[in-house]
Amino acid sequence: MQVFGLLGNPVGHSLSPPMHEAAYDELGMDARYVTFEPAPDDFADAVEGARALGIAGLNVTIPFKRDVLALVDPDPLADRIGAVNTVDVPTMTGYNTDAVGVVRAFRHHDVALTGTAVVVGAGGAGRAAAFALADEGMRVAIANRTVDRAEALAADVPNASAHPLSALGDLLADADVLVNATSVGMEDDESPVPAAALHADLAVLDAVYTPLETRLLREAAAAGATTIDGAWMLLYQGVAAFERWTGRDAPVDSMNAALRARL
Ligand code: NAP
Repeated sequence: MQVFGLLGNPVGHSLSPPMHEAAYDELGMDARYVTFEPAPDDFADAVEGARALGIAGLNVTIPFKRDVLALVDPDPLADRIGAVNTVDVPTMTGYNTDAVGVVRAFRHHDVALTGTAVVVGAGGAGRAAAFALADEGMRVAIANRTVDRAEALAADVPNASAHPLSALGDLLADADVLVNATSVGMEDDESPVPAAALHADLAVLDAVYTPLETRLLREAAAAGATTIDGAWMLLYQGVAAFERWTGRDAPVDSMNAALRARL
C-alpha cells in the first residue's frame, strides 16, 4: 500500500484526504492519504520520519510551508515563491502546486492569461498567484493592506508593481484577471474590492473556499464577470500534487465531486 499525507497544524478539517482518496478509488490504487499534526519543534523529525517510513508524497500546509524549504530540494518555482506545499518524498523534491492551482483554475474556465492581472494579497497565496500569473506572461499589479509586503513581492516578480488597496478602483479598470488572495470574505460577508470596480471583462478567482460563494464573487457575477471559486484552486493544487507523486493523469471529475460534497 502507498501512503500519502499532509503535514500541518491544525489539519483537522482538511479536505485533502477525501479529495485524494477519491482519486485512488477511481483508479483502483492501493493507497491511503493520512493527516499528521506535528508540533512545530518536531516538524523536521516528522519529515525525516516520513522518508524513513517510505511515505510516497507529502502535502505541507500552515505553518510549515516555508520551514520545509530547508529540508527539501525546491524546484525553481517553489524556490522563487519561497514556499513548498508538495514534497515528492523519495527524491525529497519540493513543489508549489498552489501556483499551478491558480493557473489551472483559470484554464478550466477558458480564461486567457494575457494582459493585466490584479492580485489582492501578498501572503502565501498572493505570492503563489503573482509568480504563477507573471510566468504566464501577464503584467501583475499586487495590492495589499500592508504596502511594504506588496513592494517586497513586486521586487521579486517579473513585470510586477505594488499598490495600496485604495488603488484597486483604478487598477481594475484595465485589468483582465483578478485574484483575491486575502482571507477577507471568510469570517464576515465582506469583500476586499469595491463592487463598483468590477466589470464584465474581468475573470475573478477568489482563493477563499469557505464560503464557496463569497461577497466578492456575488458582486463580480452581478457585474457580469467570469467567477471562479476557491475550490477550483484547491482542486487543481491537489491534482498537480497527485500527478507529481504518481506520474498519472488525475481523475479530476472524481476529485472535484469529492471535494464539493464536503463544502
Ligand atoms: P497569509 O499568508 O496569512 O496572508 C493573508 C493575506 O490577507 C495578507 O495579504 C493580508 O494582508 C491579507 N489580509 C488579512 N486580513 C485582511 C483584512 N482584514 N483586510 C485586508 N487584507 C487582509 O494567508 P494565505 O495563506 O496567503 O491565505 C490567504 C487566503 O487564501 C485564505 O483565505 C486561505 O484559505 C486562501 N487559500 C486558498 C487556497 C486554495 O487552494 N483555494 C490556497 C492557499 C490559501 P497583510 O499583509 O496586510 O496582513
